[in-house]
Amino acid sequence: MDKRFVYLDNNATTEMADEVKEIMRENEDLFGNASSMHTLGRDAETGVEWARGEVARLINAEKREIYFTSGATESNNTVFNIFRDIIDESPERNRIIISSVEHPASIETAKFLNKKGYHVEFAPVDHIGRLDLDKYEKMLSDNVALVSIMLANNESGIIQPVREASRLAKLYGAYFHTDATQAIGKIKVDVKELDVDYLSLSGHKFYGPKGIGVLFVKKGAPMEAFIHGGHQERGFRAGTYNTQAIIGLGKASELARLNLDNESEKLWRLRERLREGIEKNIPHVVVNGSNDRNLTLPGTLNVSFPSAEGESILLYLDMEGIEVSTGSACASGSLEPSYVLLASGLPVELAHGSIRFSLGKNNTEEDVDYVIEKLPPIIEKIRKMSTRKD
Ligand code: PLP
Repeated sequence: MDKRFVYLDNNATTEMADEVKEIMRENEDLFGNASSMHTLGRDAETGVEWARGEVARLINAEKREIYFTSGATESNNTVFNIFRDIIDESPERNRIIISSVEHPASIETAKFLNKKGYHVEFAPVDHIGRLDLDKYEKMLSDNVALVSIMLANNESGIIQPVREASRLAKLYGAYFHTDATQAIGKIKVDVKELDVDYLSLSGHKFYGPKGIGVLFVKKGAPMEAFIHGGHQERGFRAGTYNTQAIIGLGKASELARLNLDNESEKLWRLRERLREGIEKNIPHVVVNGSNDRNLTLPGTLNVSFPSAEGESILLYLDMEGIEVSTGSACASGSLEPSYVLLASGLPVELAHGSIRFSLGKNNTEEDVDYVIEKLPPIIEKIRKMSTRKD
């Protein structure tokens, strides 16, 4: 096959959809401040409010429950900050529980809070990386203020039992947050069905622009001004609106809602084609996570190649025009094995040799076949050079 460019890092970020680029271009002259009362300001506000409606529809929320942020990192941080204040005021409920496989946007915030003297505890996962519900339930008690469990993991693609975890948290009167950043556009996300109080999402993970996201706050759940300044977002999140990005996010939300079933069907087909091709053509591979469609994001395939370093595989694939990732993008650059895979009991050597393939809507069967052609000789070459025998 001729050399191709095959982007398989869609969990790190996605290319904006054509429709998103188009609507952002159409609105590039909409420079009015959405808070101004004149015509240009009101037009900008109309765009912002249309987008708010689209995000709300996507997750089955109400418009007033949607707060625009700069992305899921800010949304997650905000939830922890709200509860920091709540705990300061009512210390009889002073515990926060998160899963041990959350994104650094939550894990690092949790560690920071621990350093400041707050009690954040990490609920373990089972051998596929799914929350261990029994152990989690035993951690719950009447002094838990907040539980935060992601809806789907960025590295393994494992879908967490959020509905059940939220039901249990509520038996003890705790509030529940889910980071749905990786789930949006890939599986159905319905805040009412999940019964969550807070939800984070980020535009660039589902073909929208970067630097724009949302925090959903259920009506009646605690909320505090977390960026002080003007009266935007009803005074809770100040700062002049990034109108163009918000409109782009609105378009991406509309597309995610309309295309969900087709997209997710296609992604699963490609994922399975890739998995079968790898398993057939490369000896000794370990698929991390699960191959059960009900437990796995449709486009994510995480594979360990014993006796081969993930970073070497990544660089050789890059030379062939194939873009993948080892562990989470935020952790790359360091040679630390993935804490997500280690948490599910994968030995360090296997975690070192893991590659995350994350497919997106622009990938084709030809892309997958190209990877299946290029990858086996790369693994063979690296294994021959390797002194490790895992
Ligand atoms: N949460 C999850 C599960 C993610 O995958 C990411 C991005 O990698 C984030 C949060 C952070 O999103 P952002 O960098 O857009 O704020």
